Amino acid sequence: MSEQNFHLETKLVNLGRPEHVAGAPMNVPIGLSSTFVAGENSHGYIREGTDLTEALESVIGSVEGGHSIVFSSGIATINAVVDLLPANAIVVAPNHAYPGNSVRLRELAAVNRIQLREVQIDDTEAIRSAIAGASLLWLESPTNPLMEIVDLKTAIELGHSQNALVAVDNTFMSPVRQHPLELGADISMHSATKSIAGHSDSLIGVLTVKDSELAQQLRGRRVLQGTLPGALETFLALRGIRTLNLRYDRAEQNALAIAKRLESHPAVDYVLYPGLESHKHHTRHMNQASGGGQVVCFVLKGNVDQAEKFCDSLRIWTHATSLGGVESTIERRRRWPAEPTATPETLIRASVGIENVEDLWADLDTALKSVY
Ligand code: PLP
Repeated sequence: MSEQNFHLETKLVNLGRPEHVAGAPMNVPIGLSSTFVAGENSHGYIREGTDLTEALESVIGSVEGGHSIVFSSGIATINAVVDLLPANAIVVAPNHAYPGNSVRLRELAAVNRIQLREVQIDDTEAIRSAIAGASLLWLESPTNPLMEIVDLKTAIELGHSQNALVAVDNTFMSPVRQHPLELGADISMHSATKSIAGHSDSLIGVLTVKDSELAQQLRGRRVLQGTLPGALETFLALRGIRTLNLRYDRAEQNALAIAKRLESHPAVDYVLYPGLESHKHHTRHMNQASGGGQVVCFVLKGNVDQAEKFCDSLRIWTHATSLGGVESTIERRRRWPAEPTATPETLIRASVGIENVEDLWADLDTALKSVY
């Protein structure tokens, strides 16, 4: 049976391992060497990649259906993509999504490296109106943290009608829920810091592309920008991805249960979770992804102080940024100055972990009752 025919769960566990020969280790060891003995088919210098980076790339590439290139962070990946564009290229991107990407694109626009057109990304007509002459269409679905859903297939076609590269930040859905390359995108991007590594212990990013020439170009950016992930981070991400499917299933079940209960909680104004039928684009999302994911956002009634006190009153949930870990984390997104004002002041982003759902709910309910 060839590895292409393995099911997703089997690929996650079995690929990227040393060959089954007597005495071989089960895992690719953490090699700490910046240079390698010269010779044919050997690594040369560490910046070009190692056995470990190749092992992780083989797992993600196989699950996403393309060639993967791992980077030292999620944010390093957008820099690599934009670096491929000609001077003054037109980039169409969401007007409010993951703020790190938006801030970086705005910086590049401010020095005339690119021309930036920011659009309401769940509005397909807004993309259509902005796309003329674009070299890059950067998508994110669901967006962080407003959980807006892009009509990915149509948006990708619009990008391709202009010969633009189309990239999808797929971080919220992970490689086990949404497959941008199958939907036609050129590039699928993940902050692997999140659910791929999955234990809040590693900074790492990954791009996966269909075209081998594009993969080579992006690998070249990694060499020249010096953004290979460290050995420990790569090892942790490879170890993390072995259990991605199980972790994601459990976290998503918890997330759906919590989203439903939050919907009828008196302290909650509204819930933003694409797995709920009440979500504006529930059907659109479920047509292109196989679940609602592990992030639930909700807007609290009351004021900012109450929302902050709520986050501080939790005992199981950690009041911390980031998402996708086995541990449940929660935060008021507007505490960050870069967060767009489109995000309501009392919007709470909850990254639901794999703990017992009744414990998670009891903690939330107690903290809400203590404040509201
Ligand atoms: N994309 C999304 C949707 C994110 O949430 C993040 C980080 O929070 C990033 C990209 C950037 O990833 P990293 O922190 O690994 O650089």
